[in-house]
Amino acid sequence: MIPLLDTQPEIQSIWDELMSSIQDVLKKGSFIMGPNVKAFEQEAASYFGVKHAIGVNSGTDALVLAAKAFGLKEGDEVITTPFTFFATTESVGQFGAVPVFVDIDPSTFNLDVSKVEAAITSRTKAIIPVHLYGHPVDMDPLMDIARKHNLKVLEDVAQAFGSEYKGKKAGTIGDAGAFSFFPSKNLGGFGDGGMLITNDDEIAETVKMLRVHGARKKYFNEVIGYNSRLDEIQAAVLRCKLPHIDEWNEGRRRAAQRYNDLFAGESMIETPFVADYAEHVYHQYTIKIKGGQRDAVEAGLKEKEISSFVYYPVPVNALPVYKNLPARPLQNSDACTGQVLSLPIWPKITEETQQTVATAVIASLKQTVAV
Ligand SMILES: *Cc1c(COP(=O)(O)O)cnc(C)c1O
Repeated sequence: MIPLLDTQPEIQSIWDELMSSIQDVLKKGSFIMGPNVKAFEQEAASYFGVKHAIGVNSGTDALVLAAKAFGLKEGDEVITTPFTFFATTESVGQFGAVPVFVDIDPSTFNLDVSKVEAAITSRTKAIIPVHLYGHPVDMDPLMDIARKHNLKVLEDVAQAFGSEYKGKKAGTIGDAGAFSFFPSKNLGGFGDGGMLITNDDEIAETVKMLRVHGARKKYFNEVIGYNSRLDEIQAAVLRCKLPHIDEWNEGRRRAAQRYNDLFAGESMIETPFVADYAEHVYHQYTIKIKGGQRDAVEAGLKEKEISSFVYYPVPVNALPVYKNLPARPLQNSDACTGQVLSLPIWPKITEETQQTVATAVIASLKQTVAV
């Protein structure tokens, strides 16, 4: 059986370091907001070249705490993409803010920035670009629109740790960037974890307060907050992994190139587009399958015990939770939902495994077309 993601090779490659770091946490006995969290925050801030990196409980919480720090409230509108994971909009919904979905560019799967300005109303407060699958959003024109209309920008970088837009790290361009360390993300922990990065002192101060029950000083609570801290053990693990992330992302890019070569000349398969401005980190390697054959290919792979996955089977705007939102034109998102298929990828995936996957994809396609 070929999984969608195999985390074992990277874990094995730093096994001894991981074990000694985890043991060190156990020996020191400081499990919450200890030295590893502090050090990891400093190391991440320096990796991104930002003033503040704040560890929290999950990527979702990084979005939630940022939304709260932005001051989002009932009736505010937040422009974002329908082609994402629910947490993107769930975060602002905690405060009664409403997502306004703008269609995607079908080549990058990201927010079509040219359609954003038309969606702005007097209630619009923020934009959440999502760097889906590890490909950055076209941030320069988006930031121009945001500045012109005085809107906050929260980058959802859950799938794009290390990805770059015109040489700048994704997550460092908007007012804040929210990362997830869910085990399957490019930089993954051994449980839940997340981080918010920002150069804004006020946002940083608020989020630091919110993650510990709204208290700047312990037992001196100023606002209603959360219990949303990054665990010391997770921070220890992430500190072992961080120095390798660029090399691991490079491994993903090599794997993506190999798939591209294996699929070259297949007219029914569209391999991932990479914009000139982008350094892709291939959180997912996602192809589009033309001719309505996607589900058949997925089934064909399953028969051969090869994992593949549709991210996401239902666009966020069509989820039951949003049944009362007014409909908006989202043709590209709707079309992509029916065509996308993510294939197995990880930094050390072998050529042989990729060959097996690609051969099976092509064979399933030929079989279904022949019927
Ligand atoms: C994973 C993910 C999140 C949420 O991160 P968690 O750590 O699982 O809470 C948010 N947005 C996107 C796009 C994601 O892929």
